[in-house]
Amino acid sequence: MSEKCEWQAVPLEEVYRALDANANGLSQLEANARLDRFGANTLPEQPPPAWWQVLLRQFYSPLIYILLVAAFISILTGDLRDAGFIFFVLLLNATVGGYQEWKAEKSSQALRKLLRIRASVQRGEEVQEIPAEEVVPGDIVWLESGNRIPADLRLIMARGLEIDESLLTGESLSVSKDPAWIGEVGSSQADQANMTFAGSIVTHGRAKGMVVATGSSTAVGQLALDVTRSTGGKLPLLGRMEQFTNVIAITTLAIAAVIGTIGGLLGRYAPTEMFIFVVVLAVAAIPEGLPVAMTVALAVATTRMARRGVIVRRLTAVEGLGSCTLIATDKTGTLTVNELTVREVRLPTDDAFTVTGEGFLPQGEILSQESNAAGLDSPILQSLVRSVVLCNEADLHQRNGSWHWRGDAVDVALLVLGHKAGHTREAMLTSYPQVNDIPYESERQYAASFNESDGEVRVVVKGAPERILQMCGQQVNRERMERIALTMAQRGMRVLAVAEGAGADGLDQTRVPSEPTDLNLLGFVGMIDPLRPGVREAIDKCRRCGVEVAMVTGDHCVTALAIARDLGMAEHEDQVMTGTELASKTPDELAQIIQHIRVFARVAPRQKLQIVDAAQKSGHFVAVTGDGVNDAPALQAANIGVAMGQSGTDVAREASELVISDDNFATIIVGIEEGRVAYDNIRKVIYLLISTGAGELLVMGLAVVTGMPLPLLPVQVLWMNLVTNGIQDVALAFEPGEGDILDRKPRSPKERIFDRLMIERTLVAAGVMGIIGFGTFYWMIHNGFSESDSRNVLLLMMVLFENFHIGNCRSETQSAFYVSPLRSPFLLAGAIGAFVIHLGAMYLPFMQAILDTSPVSWTTWGIVAALSITIVPAIELHKWLWNRRSK
Ligand code: ADP
Ligand code: MG
Repeated sequence: MSEKCEWQAVPLEEVYRALDANANGLSQLEANARLDRFGANTLPEQPPPAWWQVLLRQFYSPLIYILLVAAFISILTGDLRDAGFIFFVLLLNATVGGYQEWKAEKSSQALRKLLRIRASVQRGEEVQEIPAEEVVPGDIVWLESGNRIPADLRLIMARGLEIDESLLTGESLSVSKDPAWIGEVGSSQADQANMTFAGSIVTHGRAKGMVVATGSSTAVGQLALDVTRSTGGKLPLLGRMEQFTNVIAITTLAIAAVIGTIGGLLGRYAPTEMFIFVVVLAVAAIPEGLPVAMTVALAVATTRMARRGVIVRRLTAVEGLGSCTLIATDKTGTLTVNELTVREVRLPTDDAFTVTGEGFLPQGEILSQESNAAGLDSPILQSLVRSVVLCNEADLHQRNGSWHWRGDAVDVALLVLGHKAGHTREAMLTSYPQVNDIPYESERQYAASFNESDGEVRVVVKGAPERILQMCGQQVNRERMERIALTMAQRGMRVLAVAEGAGADGLDQTRVPSEPTDLNLLGFVGMIDPLRPGVREAIDKCRRCGVEVAMVTGDHCVTALAIARDLGMAEHEDQVMTGTELASKTPDELAQIIQHIRVFARVAPRQKLQIVDAAQKSGHFVAVTGDGVNDAPALQAANIGVAMGQSGTDVAREASELVISDDNFATIIVGIEEGRVAYDNIRKVIYLLISTGAGELLVMGLAVVTGMPLPLLPVQVLWMNLVTNGIQDVALAFEPGEGDILDRKPRSPKERIFDRLMIERTLVAAGVMGIIGFGTFYWMIHNGFSESDSRNVLLLMMVLFENFHIGNCRSETQSAFYVSPLRSPFLLAGAIGAFVIHLGAMYLPFMQAILDTSPVSWTTWGIVAALSITIVPAIELHKWLWNRRSK
């Protein structure tokens, strides 16, 4: 099995021989042995950046550059202590930041594991779903639309197979494949019609192939491409924050220059003194703790979401979730549990049968509605049930006493119906061997199977009633039949029509047969699909928080409306739009009317893109759910693409920002909730840092203008910004949501972080801190206290300001007293920690030496505490005024 094997050029038998395997697959034992021999089917991953690279990265910020310059200025002015402390603090900051980044990377790796590609392989008697890593050479792999191909395969069988090989060839059009083709030695990959390569995507059809190469022996492996690489761009929020810090850096320099010039012009300071002033100003204005706190806030959000079943593939989504105004959701499997149960069967004669039993357990009976007796003696019913068992792609088996199923829910439900009538798929296939089929694809809305029966080939078809009736011959009274189907749909059932006819067209196994015609209708099958518990409440919650919900389904409009009514999503028929209507509208018209549409029925998956576009055009910030290959464009176009973790195809998951691990609609609301909390917390952190920085700046500015000595040393400012406040801002990033998170309207995506509220409140807080702080310092200097003592008191006061101010930061609208401090132990611990560490600074000799601090008397403690607590009523007042104004 050398790497250079030209698999495309040899006949299948030789492939089997070379790989010591056959079309029936490997036994589990053999597969295990091969896994040991060949290794896991993975590509060597990019090694994560080394620790020192991560550490170094923390220094790439204009803020840090300014601090470094400040440190050099300190060295030049002979102040080695300051310089040393600045370096120490920078290193500390980088360590904390680097550690956070490393942790975030670790947890995202762990999450990525949950999103691994899966593969259907034949192991022993059964087809099993296994992680793609465990695929070995010689395995038989089954492919269907939406799969990412797990390894290089030599095709054995293919039906209507089309593959997107753009990863390898760059060619974006799908190519079709042909297992019977035999190539030449050296033919190019793009031409190899009997091969499919790892990393390509199945866009259509079904296939079976033998694994010829895994891991780094595959074609992609040799190109060293990472197929699972996510294409996440830069996070807008982080991007904006970067801009923001650049602005701060420039403003800082400007302010420092202005104040420096004023000081110089006033002529009260020596040049070295003035330099130090500028350094302190720069240190004060820079929110040093911001990058770390932001990383923590986002990491907290993704962890909380993961715990509640929302996996974030791209951090962009965390920020965007709070702006979401419309969720366009799938019905089947997301609003409903996707455990379809056939409840009713109706024949063209209008004979009706009730099917008992729940879910996928094949226990129950088929009863005639007229006589309430077992209805199995009706020959049409018998052939209808046989047909849906033959035209089927699912498995249903009993193993160790319990039932196992695999495949599409519709198909499993039909196998269950078969069991209730005494037919298993195995037995049916023995009597009527399959010669060809048209597999179900949602844009086709039907499936067909061609089987041998008494020496001729017959076709059985099942699918959406309108589609099937089109294929029926003249003898069928379409209008009457449509009415039967409609009465079933009105009760919220998904209705499938079943028909059969002559199937000579299926004889040519090398191609997908054309659409069958001239069929006989056998009847209709009506299935129910229970609503997911909690979905109705979730839709209610959406309404309260200003998020609209629209259902997008391939089902009939009558079925869809019945279910939407049940869920309280829609009431009237004019809230329903069908795929045909959708197709006839121009984008502008659509954007106009989309506002009041709640149900999109009989839409093809690719029409989802049109819905997303129109909704965005009409001003919505759209989240869309999806699971199939054809959903990928819509998932990508939406502001937030949400893929389903269980039913979702690999392609859908890769195109989306979020993955809902339990497929439940209600879980999307969890994401919205946590997204809003994360955004709130980031705002809170920013507010805390900026307002205290502004307060410090004000103290400094007033000191320069009035010719006072330096109110705080560079080390003292750093201490405040990075150590005491650093503990607090990280704690703030852990805040749980305020109770009203889901009562608010969505935030406008264009909203700036620095809105009017933030600016006003920053001015209030900075005003209080700056004026009281400076006043105290001024009074002390003029009453004979030494510079060092006055600074010591001012530093204590500023730390206490921060300590009290954190209570203000917990909510933008609610009183600090309204939110119990015990609700977030993190924050309480953070505030206490910051305070205790400052006590250490005042009372421990070596800290005193670094920070130039000293103990103060009880009276001083009392006065300082009394003065600094004023920041609480000041902000309370502003909150009250603001709330009154915005009412
Ligand atoms: P949804 O968006 O609700 O999942 P689908 O696109 O899967 O809807 O299905 C659309 C219609 O196609 C259904 O109403 C049904 O009539 C038909 N259909 C669904 N699954 C199958 C299947 N496995 N075989 C044949 N027809 C199907
Ligand atoms: Mg479906």
